[in-house]
Amino acid sequence: MSEANQEYIVLSGARENNLKNVSLRIPKRQITIFTGVSGSGKSSIVFDTIAAESTRLLNENFSMFVRNFLPKVPQPDTDAIENLSMAVIVDQKRLGGGSHSTMGTITDISPILRLLFSRAGEPYVGQANMFSFNDPQGMCLECSGIGRRLGIDMSKALDMSKSLNEGAILLPDYKVDSMDWSIIVQTGSFDTDKKLSDYSAEELDLLLHGKARKVEMQFGGKAINITVEGVIEKFTNKYIKRDLKTMSERTQKAVAPYITEGPCSSCRGARLSQAALNCKINSLNIADMSSMEVGQLIRVIREIDNPVAAPIVKSLTERLQHLVDIGLDYLTLDRETDTLSGGESQRVKMVKHLSGSLVDVTYIFDEPSVGLHPRDVHRLNELLQKLRDKGNTVLVVEHDPDVIKIADHIVDVGPHAGSRGGTIMYEGSFEGLLESGTLTGNHMKRPLHLKQDCRQPSGKLSIQNATLHNLNQVSVDIPTGVLTVVTGVAGSGKSTLINDVFLSQHSDAIVIDQSAVGVSTRSNPATYTGIMDDVRKAFASANKVNQGLFSFNSKGACENCQGLGVVYTDLAFLESVKLPCEVCGGKRFKEEVLAYKLDGKSIAEVLAMTVEQALEFFQIKEVVRKLQAMSDVGLNYITLGQPLSTLSGGECQRIKLASELHKKGSIYVMDEPTTGLHMSDIGLLMAIMNRLVDAGNTVIVIEHNLDVISQADWIIDMGPDGGSKGGQVVFEGTPSQIIHVEHSITGRYLN
Ligand code: ADP
Ligand code: ADP
Ligand code: ZN
Ligand code: ZN
Repeated sequence: MSEANQEYIVLSGARENNLKNVSLRIPKRQITIFTGVSGSGKSSIVFDTIAAESTRLLNENFSMFVRNFLPKVPQPDTDAIENLSMAVIVDQKRLGGGSHSTMGTITDISPILRLLFSRAGEPYVGQANMFSFNDPQGMCLECSGIGRRLGIDMSKALDMSKSLNEGAILLPDYKVDSMDWSIIVQTGSFDTDKKLSDYSAEELDLLLHGKARKVEMQFGGKAINITVEGVIEKFTNKYIKRDLKTMSERTQKAVAPYITEGPCSSCRGARLSQAALNCKINSLNIADMSSMEVGQLIRVIREIDNPVAAPIVKSLTERLQHLVDIGLDYLTLDRETDTLSGGESQRVKMVKHLSGSLVDVTYIFDEPSVGLHPRDVHRLNELLQKLRDKGNTVLVVEHDPDVIKIADHIVDVGPHAGSRGGTIMYEGSFEGLLESGTLTGNHMKRPLHLKQDCRQPSGKLSIQNATLHNLNQVSVDIPTGVLTVVTGVAGSGKSTLINDVFLSQHSDAIVIDQSAVGVSTRSNPATYTGIMDDVRKAFASANKVNQGLFSFNSKGACENCQGLGVVYTDLAFLESVKLPCEVCGGKRFKEEVLAYKLDGKSIAEVLAMTVEQALEFFQIKEVVRKLQAMSDVGLNYITLGQPLSTLSGGECQRIKLASELHKKGSIYVMDEPTTGLHMSDIGLLMAIMNRLVDAGNTVIVIEHNLDVISQADWIIDMGPDGGSKGGQVVFEGTPSQIIHVEHSITGRYLN
C-alpha cells in the first residue's frame, strides 16, 4: 500500500444489498457525510460494509482457541477494505435499562457526583457507595432504590356514597355476597346499611386499616375462627407487597385499575438512605442536584469552593458542559433513560464518547440531527468537529443541509433507491456538491416557499390547562380537517403536549410512529400489509395445492431455518450472529414448494421482487391497491420478503402510513416523519399528508424540518426554550404569519 493511502480508508468493489461495485477513498481523521435518497445505499456502505468489516476484524483479535467457538462472521461482500480502524456506532436505538438506568448513570456523571459528596459533603458519611441508589449501602430501604412505591387509588377503591350492603367497596375481591365481603359484614363491627361517608373516623380506620384479628363466625351452620383485617391492609399485603408480575394475567388485569404509583414516602423519590440525604454541599443534597436541569446544575457545581474537591469539580463541569453543548441542558441526571427519545438517546451516547480517551476510532452516526431544531444544529456540528479534532474519523449519514455543510468530504449515493441506486454520484466538497447536478445538490439550492392558501379548519380539539412535565398551564386548540405542525426547540414540550396530553384525551387518534413493526422475525412487507394472503391463494389455485404450503410457518417452509432464510447463532459475549441458511440458501421454502410457479415465478422469486417489480407482475386488485400505497409513500425499492427488522425507523413509519391511506375522518399523529428522508422525498411525504387531509382526516405532525413547517395549514410553536424555560405556546397561526413574530425562534429560521 502506498504512503498516501494510509490517510484513507480504501473501499473497493463493495456489493452489499444494492451496491454496484462501489469503490471509495474516505479521508481519515476527517468528517465524511453520506447523502442520497432513502434506500440509495448509504447504510449499506457505512453499516453493512465498513462497520461490519470492523466488527469482523475485532473478532479476529481473539485467540484461535476462542474463535473455534465463534461461528465464522461472513465477510461483507466487497473486494477489499484497507486501513480500517475500530468502528464505534452511535445510533438512535433507545436506551433501555429500567428504573435503575438514568441519564447520570449512563453518562458516568453520577459516580463522579457521588465521589464529590463523599469528599466534600457535610456531615461526612463515608465513601462513595453511600450515595448510590444501586448499592445496598446507599439505597432507600423502603423502596429498594426505585424512588417510587405502589399504592391504592382510594377514589377507585371505595364509593363513599354507598353502604357495605350497597357495594361500597369497589375492590375486586369485595363484591356483595363474595367471601371477603361476607367476612367483613359478619364481624358485627360495622353498620352495614350506613353510607361510608357517615362513618366516624374510628369506624373507617377499622374497616380500612384494622390489624389482623381472629373472629368467630358462622359459615354453613358451623362456627369457625376467621382472620379479619382492614380492606386496604389486606389488598396491600395480597397484591401490592408482592411482585404482581408473578401473578396470573387475569389477576394483574383485575387489580391494575386500583393501583397507583407515587413517590416513595420515605425518600420522597430521591431513592437514597436518610444518611445520604442528610449530607449536603452548599445546603443541597445529592438528590437535589440530580433533579436539577443540567444547565442549572453546572452553575451550582462551579460555585463549590473546596480545594479538596477541585479536581472532581473540574471533571464534573467538563462532562456537564458536553451535555449543555449538545443541547441537552434541559434534562436532569435523575431522568430515566427509557423515557428519552431516539434523538436524545443518540446525543447522550455521543457525550459518553466525547469524555472518553479513545483516539483513531471511526465513529459512525446515523442522522444525528433527528429531534434537533435548526437553532441547535450548530451545537451538534461542534461536537462532530471536536471528535474529529481528537484524531478520529467521523462518518455521518445525514439529510440536514446544515450538517452536510460542515463535511470535509461528501459522498452522494444514488441516483435513486434500491436497484436504481447503489452508485456514487458525487465525491468531494460541499461547494462542489451544489454544482454537481445531483438530486442532493439541486435540492440544497432550492428556496423555501411559505404556504399561502391555508385550509380552513372544520372544527377544533381543545387542550385545557395542561401542566404535565414542563407544560405551563397550556391551553390550545388544535384545528380539525387541516395539517397542523407542532414545532419548537428540543425539550420545549412538543411531545409532552401531543404524545402525552393530547393522545390521553383523544384515544381515537391514530399514532404513526417510527417504532418497529411486525410481530415476529418472519414478518415482512408482504405479511404486514396482508398481500401475502392473496399471494398464497393465487399460488394455491394456480397449482391446485393447499395454500398453507406457501406460508413461512407451515410444512412447506425450509426445516433447517424454519422459513427464516437465515440462522441466528447466539454468542456468549458478542451480539448474536446471523448466517444464511445452508439448506435453502436463503430461499426459505423446500425444493418441492419452489417448484410451484405463478406466471413462471416461484414463491421465493415473488418475495424477492421489489414493490415496483411486483406492481408490474400482479393484476389482483387488492394486491395492486396495497402495493400502490407502498409505492405512494416512497417504498418502491423495498422487497416483499425483506424482514421488517431490516427497515429503518423512517421506513417503518411509512409502511404504517401506507396501510392508513384509504381511511377517512380519522386523527393522525406523527412524530418527526421526515426522519430518514432525503430532501427530495419530503415533497412526496407532504403529498401523502395532504392526501390524508383532503380525504377528511386531521393530521398533526411534530416536526423541525423547515420544508414541512412552511407547508402547514396551522403552526403551533412551543417554547420559548427547552425544559423549565419552555412549556408555553409561543405562536399559533399560519406560516406567513409566524415569520413576523420576533420572539418565535422557528419564525426566525423560516425567514
Ligand atoms: P439508505 O441507507 O440509503 O436509506 P440502505 O443501504 O438501507 O439505503 O438500502 C439500500 C437498499 O438495500 C434498499 O433497497 C434496501 O431495501 C436494501 N436493503 C437494506 N438492508 C437490507 C437487508 N438486510 N436485506 C435486503 N435488502 C436490504
Ligand atoms: P420536545 O418534544 O419539545 O423535545 P418534551 O415534551 O420531550 O420536549 O420535553 C419537555 C420537558 O419535559 C423537558 O424538560 C423534558 O426533560 C421533560 N420530560 C419529557 N418527558 C419526560 C418524562 N417521561 N419524565 C420526566 N420529564 C420528562
Ligand atoms: Zn424510597
Ligand atoms: Zn433454510
